[in-house]
Amino acid sequence: MSKILRVNMKDLTCNFEDVPEKYKLFGGRALTSAITCDEVPPTCHPLGPNNKIIIAPGIISGTNAPSSGRTSIGGKSPLTGTIKEANSGGLSAQKIGRLQIKAIIVEGKPQEKGKFYLLKINKDGTELLPADDLVGKGMYEVDEILFQKYGKVAIIGIGLTGEMMLTNSGISINDMENRPGRYAARGGMGAVMGSKGLKAIVIDDQGAPGVEIADKELFNSGRKKLAKALTTHDVTKKGGALNTYGTAVLVNIINEAGGLPTRNFSSGQFEGASKISGESVAEICKKRGGEGTTGHGCHPGCIIQCSNIFPKEDGTHHVSCMEYESIWAFGANCGIDDLDQIAELIRICNDMGLDTIEAGDTIAVAMEGGLLEFGDGEGAINLLNEVGKRTPLGRIIGSGTEFTARALGVSRVPTVKGQSMPAYEPRAIKGIGVVYAASTMGADHTSGYTIAPEILGTGGKQDPLDVEKAQLARAFLDTTAFLDSTGYCLFIAFAILDISEGFEGVIETMNGVLGVDLSGDDWVNIGKETINKERAFNIAAGFTSADDRLPEFMNIEKLPPHNVTFEVSEEILDSVYKE
Ligand code: SF4
Repeated sequence: MSKILRVNMKDLTCNFEDVPEKYKLFGGRALTSAITCDEVPPTCHPLGPNNKIIIAPGIISGTNAPSSGRTSIGGKSPLTGTIKEANSGGLSAQKIGRLQIKAIIVEGKPQEKGKFYLLKINKDGTELLPADDLVGKGMYEVDEILFQKYGKVAIIGIGLTGEMMLTNSGISINDMENRPGRYAARGGMGAVMGSKGLKAIVIDDQGAPGVEIADKELFNSGRKKLAKALTTHDVTKKGGALNTYGTAVLVNIINEAGGLPTRNFSSGQFEGASKISGESVAEICKKRGGEGTTGHGCHPGCIIQCSNIFPKEDGTHHVSCMEYESIWAFGANCGIDDLDQIAELIRICNDMGLDTIEAGDTIAVAMEGGLLEFGDGEGAINLLNEVGKRTPLGRIIGSGTEFTARALGVSRVPTVKGQSMPAYEPRAIKGIGVVYAASTMGADHTSGYTIAPEILGTGGKQDPLDVEKAQLARAFLDTTAFLDSTGYCLFIAFAILDISEGFEGVIETMNGVLGVDLSGDDWVNIGKETINKERAFNIAAGFTSADDRLPEFMNIEKLPPHNVTFEVSEEILDSVYKE
């Protein structure tokens, strides 16, 4: 029987509680957002004692359903002041699921200032131990120390930025090589974990009872349907686009569409795009050999395997993973076209605990603010290393794009609700701009990936320059909130949007685990309710429709090469949430 684990950092106690009936259908984001709405006062300080961290695997995480090892981490964001759910792969979701823990709620603050703890969870229970030996260490060292001590466990942890409670701090989850390659990166949730005095959580599922599956036959039928869809769709199959080139396959595609934000969102095309593309990443991995590889999974049982390990020149591991967003953030957006320099910038982020999108946007703003030239890769590495040295400049950079822009007097600031924009230019691809504006969590492409129909022609075809995207955005926001609650990777969407049997498979696995008979619409409605709850939290925190807007410069500066502004009217933006 699944339980909720409540960890109180004030009195250092851990208790297992029954799962309230109202949470029975919830997993992942639906659960983290429901608990945040029920237990966190919307106006609380994100780093104060009243905020909480909620960690929840998806409903099917821990089963043998394909690509289903996603962990949701939620609470109130110190970066945006909104509700937050950051979603990550890595080893944790499956192990938490197998231990039959539906959610971990971390609350309170230690009485001793500056004290950090390690939370150990296994089949026999929990233990909170002093983490003195881990404090001040980056995530590569932390993962190695804990691996030596505890073996093949899942590790959820924070780097130096989380300890410093900087607003650009993510939460690391170890990958299959026990490295900090996976992040619940966005929104500064690492700072919240730091404020709780929790340096790391170790999850050992040896001897765990496994996920209870109410209807095994239905579950297995669904699992097979989904696996078939994933292994036949061109984007998700073995040897398909994601498996061969990783998410960075998008660099050339988005550049071609004029939507690759370049040099702090001043152009939609980067002349160095081909040098930082997924094709170039794959070529280097192959040429250098050694540990370098593409077609790598971030957790056991992923059959898409979009990840990679990028090697140094001698073939040894440099960083995993070189994602599209991370490559773009430090590449095109900073005018840097050297993949080795970009790999080093991503490795620094993984070690210190920075979100690569936020950090890349921050460096670009610093370039615009005159701290260094666009294209200066070595300068960018030095600047990012300031964060780990805890210098005043490093603290500014580690606090994100908006904070840095204020410090440097920069007015071209690509953020919504305080969170940096990802790698798709809203002026060239309007639907994703509507999603950035309307998302409950600030600019976030994973809130509603309209790039699928607008650029890739998946799930229908939409003209990227058409401004009438309110309905499309709402449909993607709702469906994504549902998918984020299942435990499945968002990338299954490519296959299930085009292959109806794949979507049926998802629904059957969910119904099979829980022993319910809900339709696809019923499940997507749970996603819609989740969005409505998140929005209600934000309104209670003081947000209004005036916050559902893109930055002013996008309405007045024309973006080359299409030479267009973001001409989506305020009426269209406001209609996203009108029934
Ligand atoms: S498709 Fe990629 S991101 Fe998704 S679970 Fe697999 S390896 Fe991880």
